[in-house]
Amino acid sequence: MSTFEPEQTAAELLAEVTRLRAENERLRQRNATAQARAAQALSRATRLAQVVSVLGQLTDVDEVLDRAASEIAELFGADILVIWLGTRADQPATAWGMRPGAPPPVLSLSEADTARLVEVPILVGPVAECSVPEAVRAYEPAHVAWIRLSHRRDDLGTMLLVRRADQPFDSSDTLELRAVATRVALAIDNGRLQRRSQERLERLERLYERTAQLVGMLELGEIARLLASVALQELPVTGAEICIERPGAGAEHAASGSLAGDGSTEGAGDAAVRRAPLTLMEPATGWLGVADLDEDDSEAVDLLHHIADLANLVVGKALLFDATRTQAQYDAMTGLANRALFMDRLEESLQRARRYQHLVGLIFVDLDKFKQVNDTLGHAAGDELLVTVAHRLRDAVRATDTVARLGGDEFVVLCDRIDSTENLRVLAGRLSTRVQEPATIAGQEMRPGASMGVADTETSGYESAVLLAGADAAMYEDKADRRRR
Ligand code: GH3
Ligand code: MG
Repeated sequence: MSTFEPEQTAAELLAEVTRLRAENERLRQRNATAQARAAQALSRATRLAQVVSVLGQLTDVDEVLDRAASEIAELFGADILVIWLGTRADQPATAWGMRPGAPPPVLSLSEADTARLVEVPILVGPVAECSVPEAVRAYEPAHVAWIRLSHRRDDLGTMLLVRRADQPFDSSDTLELRAVATRVALAIDNGRLQRRSQERLERLERLYERTAQLVGMLELGEIARLLASVALQELPVTGAEICIERPGAGAEHAASGSLAGDGSTEGAGDAAVRRAPLTLMEPATGWLGVADLDEDDSEAVDLLHHIADLANLVVGKALLFDATRTQAQYDAMTGLANRALFMDRLEESLQRARRYQHLVGLIFVDLDKFKQVNDTLGHAAGDELLVTVAHRLRDAVRATDTVARLGGDEFVVLCDRIDSTENLRVLAGRLSTRVQEPATIAGQEMRPGASMGVADTETSGYESAVLLAGADAAMYEDKADRRRR
C-alpha cells in the first residue's frame, strides 16, 4: 500500500506537467512542420499542374523548352537546367542558369550512367557519384539529377538538373520530376508534330503556287530550270536536275545545287543520284534526278514523286503545245518551215531590213519534171525525193536562213541578210549544183533538177508579196531556159 507523501507528489506532478508541456510543444511543432510541408507540397503540386497545363498548350518546341527550363528549375530548386534533344550532344537545346557566353555544356554521361539511364528514366545523386558536364563543373554543383525524356518508345532527349546547395534530390523530387519529364516529352513531341504539319502545309502552299506558275509556262528550258530549283528547294537533297529528251528536237537539261554546273545527263557516276523517270508524250522521255536523297525518308521519297508528277503535267502540256505549234508551222514530211511560218519570218526580216538598211534575198526553187518521178516510180518515191532535196537545201544555207516548202515541189530560201544581188545569185548557183548531185531514190539513181529564181529588196523593194512574186517569176524564166536547153 502506498503512503501519501504530499511533497514528493507535488514535485512529480510538476515534472509530469513539464514533460507533458514539452511533449505538447513537440507535437505542435511537428504538426506545424507537417502542415508546412503539406502546404509546400500542395503548392508545388499546384504549380506543377499549372506548368504541365501551360506546356500542354504550347505548340512551338523552342517555347516549350524555354518555359519548361525556367519553371522546372524554379520548382525543383535547381540552379542549372540543361536539355539536350535527339543526337545533338554538343549543342544543348536549352541551358538555363548558366552565365551568358559560357561554353555550351556537352552531354557527357559515363557509360555506366548511360546504361542506368536507359533502364530507369531518372538518376539522382551527389556530384561525386554522377556524371557532370565539364562546362557545369565551374558552377560548383552539389547534387545532380539526370532524366531521360521519352515519349512512347522514342527517346527524345536528356534533361539535367543541378543544385549547388547541399540539398539532395529526394524521393518526392524524383517522383515529381519523372511526372513532369513525361509531360515535357509529350509537349516536345506535340510541338514537333505541329511544326511538321505546319511545314507540310506551307510546302503544299508553295508547291501550289509554283504549279500555277509552271502551268502558265510554255518554254521547256524555263520549265526545266524552275522544276530543278523547286526540287532543290522543297526536298532534303543537295542537288536536283531534270532532263527532257526529244528525239530530233534535242534535249533540255537543267540542274541546281550540287548537280549544277556538272551538265552531264548520263551516268554522273554518283550512286547518290536518284532518278525518277518522267512519263511523257511519245517519243519524248525524261527524268528528274536528285542527289543525296535519304531513301528511308518516306516523306521525302513521296515528295519526289509528287514533284515528278508535277513535272509530267507541266512538261506534258508544254510538249503538246510545242507539237501543235510545230504542226501549224512546219511541213510534216520534210520538217521545213511551211508557208505560214515562212511568211511570218519574211515579214520580220523585211522589217529589220527596213530599219537597219540591209538586203534580204529570196531564192525560189521548183523541181523539174517532178511529176515524172511520181508517175514512173510512184508517189512514195516522189516523197523521198522531196525530203532529199529539202535536206540538201537546208544543209547548204546558214542556220539564220529559212528554208520553207511552199507546197508540192516548190521551195523557197529566205536569206535574212545578203551583201549583194550578186552574192545571192552565187548562192542560188551553189544550191542548184547541190540539188543536182546524184541521188538514189527508190533504189534508182537519178539526177534531180531544179529551176531557181532570185529576188532581193534592192531589185524588188520591201513588200513581201512583190518580193515573192519576183522570185517566182525569175524561177519560171529559169525553167523556160532550162527547157529550151
Ligand atoms: P515542172 O518541170 O514544170 O516543174 O513540172 P513538174 O513535173 O515538176 O510539175 P509541177 O511542178 O507543176 O507539179 C508538181 C507536182 O508535184 C504536182 C503534184 O502531183 C506533185 N506533188 C505535189 N505534192 C506532192 C507530194 O507531197 N508528194 C508527191 N510525191 N508529189 C507531190
Ligand atoms: Mg516542178
